[in-house]
Amino acid sequence: MENQTEAMEQGIGRLKERLAAGVEKAVIIPHISPDGDAVGSCSALAEALRLAGIRWELLTCDYIPDYLRFLKNIRCVISHQDKPDVCRQLIEEADVIFMLDHNTVGREGELEKYVAASKAEKVIIDHHPDPDEQAIVISAPWLSSTCELLYTVIARVWGKETVNADMANALYTGINTDTGGLNHNCSRPETYRIIAELLEAGLDKAFVHENIYQMNHLSRLRLIGYSLLKKLKVDKRYPVAIIPIEKEELERYYYKDGDLEGLVNIPLSMRNVSVSIQITERKDRVKLSFRSKRDIPVNEWAKEWFNGGGHLNAAGGQMDLPLEEVVKRVRETMPLFFERFVK
Ligand code: 5GP
Ligand code: MN
Repeated sequence: MENQTEAMEQGIGRLKERLAAGVEKAVIIPHISPDGDAVGSCSALAEALRLAGIRWELLTCDYIPDYLRFLKNIRCVISHQDKPDVCRQLIEEADVIFMLDHNTVGREGELEKYVAASKAEKVIIDHHPDPDEQAIVISAPWLSSTCELLYTVIARVWGKETVNADMANALYTGINTDTGGLNHNCSRPETYRIIAELLEAGLDKAFVHENIYQMNHLSRLRLIGYSLLKKLKVDKRYPVAIIPIEKEELERYYYKDGDLEGLVNIPLSMRNVSVSIQITERKDRVKLSFRSKRDIPVNEWAKEWFNGGGHLNAAGGQMDLPLEEVVKRVRETMPLFFERFVK
């Protein structure tokens, strides 16, 4: 970890130099299906760049879920699904592209091809293991969230005093949501020192909590209730819960982006469940979400058999197969995973 910390510090040093040399046009990109950490980090970085007088554009390959739109700067996000040509041009003309909360251009959906072809210098700021090689890599897999890392980056580059209330709200959103409400991945005292500093910088914790946890629609609660009642199955051989959800079921409950947020964590509250897997049929693919307790490395399960990856306790993947086939594959790979990866 010492070497990793050094590499991270070097990355921050490089970024500082690059910014000092002058940046005309920055582009900021979160990962596909952006979550609280991705959107929080984009919001805070956009704010930091704004205060530094650097022009930025925030681009997504898909959409920002409604519950995260309260964050500063997020309303001006440009989606590739609405304006593909604008996205292509902005990426082409950028001199720096910030890749937030993801370790590879492969997690940028339709934007990937433009980013890969762009001459812009790419800056990864992220906490997933094994980042791509890029011009500047600031990677810290031991941290709770990209937002926690970004706080350090902003403090080093522009000084702690630049962190305003909007940035504090955004950074706390990422730290809180990526740890399941300060539940997992947050045993380092430093995380709480940072939260304390965010409070000093004007974080409005009640406001953030209200926006991320208390803005549900009845249809979302019904969908979650239905999924737990009718879809959740616990395997008989292994401590694994599976929740397969069909497209038609999503439509029945007026599904919107973000409506299933948090569902996959619920089965872990059972004493006999150590891994929870949500398998959701989307328009063009099946998406898998993995969560686990203790040191069960679900990122290995996602990486080995489901075109995915992620963190030890929270990972994801995707398959271009019918839903039933994916569920079958999960069942078939279960013994292999437990044999090979779980002590
Ligand atoms: P979620 O289940 O919330 O979509 O994803 C949990 C974590 O798994 C994410 O933070 C991300 O690190 C990782 N992840 C999700 N989907 C994918 C994927 O398709 N590929 C990779 N490499 N990682 C993913
Ligand atoms: Mn994250």
